[in-house]
Amino acid sequence: MPAPLEKATTLIRESRRIVAFSGAGISTEAGIPDFRSKGGLWEDEELMALMSSSGFRHDPAAFYQASLQMLPNIHRAKPTAAHRLLAELEARGQLTAVITQNIDGLHQAAGSQTVYEIHGNFRTGHCVNCRAAYKMSDFYRQIELGEIKLPACIKCQSPVKPDVALFGDLLPFDVWDRAVEATQRCDLMLALGSSLIVYPAAELPKTAISHGAKLIIVNREPTDYDAMASVVIRGQLGDFARAVMDSL
Ligand code: NAD
Ligand code: ZN
Repeated sequence: MPAPLEKATTLIRESRRIVAFSGAGISTEAGIPDFRSKGGLWEDEELMALMSSSGFRHDPAAFYQASLQMLPNIHRAKPTAAHRLLAELEARGQLTAVITQNIDGLHQAAGSQTVYEIHGNFRTGHCVNCRAAYKMSDFYRQIELGEIKLPACIKCQSPVKPDVALFGDLLPFDVWDRAVEATQRCDLMLALGSSLIVYPAAELPKTAISHGAKLIIVNREPTDYDAMASVVIRGQLGDFARAVMDSL
């Protein structure tokens, strides 16, 4: 086993309050593109404009059309080895929380119980006017079948927006606070598949270190935090997760 991987597995085995911080890279092996890799969603500027807070306000129906280009992928996706590793570490009592930037729900699908979705999710939504709460899956099916163009509130007919933090939106405060608390108490942070450049989410590895935790970064590309980490593994998350699982 290469030295960094060996060091990482030892750290994981010895830790009791691990917090994982995952980005879009943990789901690419499930077939969901990330933002910044080649072929990632950032390359589609029109899509990015529609998927913003102002895009939703100007043309919510176009927002839903655009997100349905991505959502079928998300509906069909299955958790990866890395998602399963985190659920297993939690079940063994070694991991206290998964903090994720992802909105795909794959951590829950893998069996993780404590998941802080700091950028929200697509499963639930609220009326932009009266704040009535909705489960979104029926709306998505109706849009895909061409029955509706835009989910409308049954109480006031205003558009219903998924509970996802779009560009220009605030983060869900309560979830963010709990993510910071878990980070302050962890003994090891695993930063998995994130470019660590979206703020304030990318503050979390720094918070972990300043409270005495170790940091392991697993990512295909370098990040600005590599110099602060105890171990950096530049490779595929699937290979990493399978190696760690075998060593447990
Ligand atoms: P990002 O696209 O900025 O970075 C992903 C990183 O993962 C890249 O550095 C890439 O090199 C690395 N990576 C990709 N596949 C990998 C693999 N198999 N193994 C190891 N590393 C791999 O994503 P981010 O940091 O999460 O931030 C961007 C934003 O994108 C977030 O706000 C998130 O909400 C959103 N997003 C979410 C999803 C999703 O829910 N699956 C998908 C796309 C974007
Ligand atoms: Zn309403």
